[in-house]
Amino acid sequence: MTSVIERPAAQFGSASNLVCRECGATYPLGPSHVCELCFGPLEIAYDADLQRLVTRESIASGPATMWRYRGLLPVAPLVDLNVGMTRLVPAPHLARELGMKSLWVKDDSGNPTHSFKDRVVSVAASAAAALGYEVLACASTGNLANAVAAAAANAGLKSVVLIPHDLEAGKVVTTAVYGGTLVAVEGSYDDVNRLCAEVAGELPWAFVNVNVRPFYAEGSKTVGYEIAEQLGWRLPEQVVIPIASGSLLTKVDKAWRELGSLGLVDATPYKVFGAQSAGCAPVSTAFHAGHDVVQPVRPTGIAKSLNIGNPADGPYALDVVRRTGGSIADVGDAEIVDGIQLLARTTGIFAETAGGVTVATLRKLLAAGELDPAAETVILNTGDGLKTLDAVEPVARPTATIAPTLSAFREAGLFE
Ligand SMILES: *Cc1c(COP(=O)(O)O)cnc(C)c1O
Ligand SMILES: [Zn+2]
Repeated sequence: MTSVIERPAAQFGSASNLVCRECGATYPLGPSHVCELCFGPLEIAYDADLQRLVTRESIASGPATMWRYRGLLPVAPLVDLNVGMTRLVPAPHLARELGMKSLWVKDDSGNPTHSFKDRVVSVAASAAAALGYEVLACASTGNLANAVAAAAANAGLKSVVLIPHDLEAGKVVTTAVYGGTLVAVEGSYDDVNRLCAEVAGELPWAFVNVNVRPFYAEGSKTVGYEIAEQLGWRLPEQVVIPIASGSLLTKVDKAWRELGSLGLVDATPYKVFGAQSAGCAPVSTAFHAGHDVVQPVRPTGIAKSLNIGNPADGPYALDVVRRTGGSIADVGDAEIVDGIQLLARTTGIFAETAGGVTVATLRKLLAAGELDPAAETVILNTGDGLKTLDAVEPVARPTATIAPTLSAFREAGLFE
């Protein structure tokens, strides 16, 4: 087995090398994502001595963005739209409605392009810049398209974004406006992703979720770091996370394990719960069948940002959920719309369909007795409802439409 460990350049922060998640083979840091020996996925490994230089104080003295954790990330902030440090909102009214004791919403709709994807793109785009790429590309279910196009525009890079042709207008317009190349592909996300892997083999482009995916994925750790810091440097007891590729879920867990082993928080136990849409529930299905492998599906349903039928990190998400004692559930389109309305009505947060999936899954897991209503719980809202207006338009209408007179106001029953 070849094992290459090179001294990393300063621009790679505390990262030491790439490591295969399956066989443990190591590779120098660079634009590769697949193990040459076993075809397993590569991930970033860190120099623990360098990571140990990070303290609560050094983090607090950093910027009010995700880059305050740069000592725990694999690259310097070369591309930065002031992403992260989104609000952690207490949700007492939602908690009361669900019979829970303590509930928080980590609201990533507050990012520059209104989803958590700005985090992964900040790291991937910075890595692309460090590695000398001039074109930033991706396959996207929508939110990644926004984030890549905006980050490239800000950094003066070219962007090439490939999306399934049937995405919401709220994701197409909000990508095209940044002026990069936007290609609508007549196929599903999984078709788009396959095409991107082929194109990536032909052109010297940084595909954020293909050849620089190990860097991309680390960006999601910052969700976990922020939750811990915002709770006063401790971990919650339960977290509910939506699953598309499964990367976000696995990286929140990685973040919390790192914080525990670095002594930045007490390594208290937590349970990780996964949320999927019934129209695309391959990880939930595998969980309930007791399988370690994830059988691909053809996605349907309104939660398009989560519609990855062949999730790259599905098996690792299963590992995390099983190791921590959590579980996974999936919810149908009507429940998703109810979930969006419930969150909006009780917190003032307007989530996209993925957030509806998470709230509806929270409710379902509570009803099933799998989530403890007495345990402190954080749920992630990963995107903004303004991008998926069509999902709620039929049920979110004016209470009344009236003539501009007092009698009309009274007749419409608005005095009650
Ligand atoms: C991409 C995305 C997710 C899930 O991301 P994975 O890391 O691929 O599991 C969740 N919510 C929203 C809104 C997304 O765009
Ligand atoms: Zn390997």
